Amino acid sequence: MKYCKKCLMPNTRPRITFDPEGVCNACRYQESKEKIDWAARARELITLCDLHRSNNGEYDCVVPWSGGKDSSTIAYKLKTKYGMNPLLACVSPMLPTAVGNANRETFLNLGFDYVLSRPNQKVHRYLARKFFIERGNPKAAWDAQVNSFPAQVAVQNNIKLVFYAEHGESEYGGEILHKDSSKTRDAEEVYQIQLGDDPRDWSDDTVQKNDLNPYLYPVDGMLGRGIKAYYYAWFEKWHMCENYKFAKDHWDFREATTVDGTWNGWDSIDDKMDPLYYHMQYVKYGFGKALRDAARMIQGGYMGRRKALGLIERNDSEFPETDFEEVCEYLGMPDVRQMIESHRNKDLFVKRDWVLRNPLPKG
Ligand SMILES: [Zn+2]
Repeated sequence: MKYCKKCLMPNTRPRITFDPEGVCNACRYQESKEKIDWAARARELITLCDLHRSNNGEYDCVVPWSGGKDSSTIAYKLKTKYGMNPLLACVSPMLPTAVGNANRETFLNLGFDYVLSRPNQKVHRYLARKFFIERGNPKAAWDAQVNSFPAQVAVQNNIKLVFYAEHGESEYGGEILHKDSSKTRDAEEVYQIQLGDDPRDWSDDTVQKNDLNPYLYPVDGMLGRGIKAYYYAWFEKWHMCENYKFAKDHWDFREATTVDGTWNGWDSIDDKMDPLYYHMQYVKYGFGKALRDAARMIQGGYMGRRKALGLIERNDSEFPETDFEEVCEYLGMPDVRQMIESHRNKDLFVKRDWVLRNPLPKG
């Protein structure tokens, strides 16, 4: 494994690239933000909003929304600063946490309309289990729905604008397909890069083609109605720490007291499935949530490497113990430990805790 000379992100992160100086493309992207004329980008956003702003009470944009600091900050700014009338599109977490529920409720009480999707749980659970077994990713189908649902809401309600948050491949290290990739979202990128395949291919003996509708990005519907999806982070200098501060300053945004696998109590705190999801990244790629969060802090200049190394050391490998039984039950497995281990990348890990082949008798 090679770690970025700046942010510590390893080269095992899918699709990340390193330059000859040993610095990753996420760090270089963050550096490039310093040269951007953000005032011009803000004017571009105003022009876009002017073009679509509703003056008859109808919704004029869709914001994919979880109640977390990022999506809530976007919705809040679009409504209060840019005078838009957003409809929030929320996909239910697989296993909602109390703090996530509280944050959603607090934010909605500020005066926002939202629609919630909790698709057929028989199918949703089946896909979670299937992709956990096959790919070590229990959230693959959920991810697809988070992508597709806001676009479906836009098509169904004929709302011409969708504001996704940030382009992850640019912001955090990955593959950039087009020059406009960090500005506008297209289905090709969602399927090819983010999901790695097309949900239309997910039918089998258990799941029928018709069951997969919640996971399909409505490409034709978007094109037909002239609906465009943008990344908000294109228009405004983006960092999770700024969104966190904004949320704390503007409403009673709550943090989680402890989260397995990280020191960070204010990011990805609304789903009990998330600690397993990030632990699987640790098992497969050798970096977990603590490193991911620390790398983003370093990239944005919010944390030094020394502090980051200590936090990663203490948290990154931590097992997702807290809601483990509930997670196992959701995935329909009595104990998912064996399955976790089966995904461990043996090239990255050394087994240290040797035990006797013939242990002592039990009694
Ligand atoms: Zn880096």
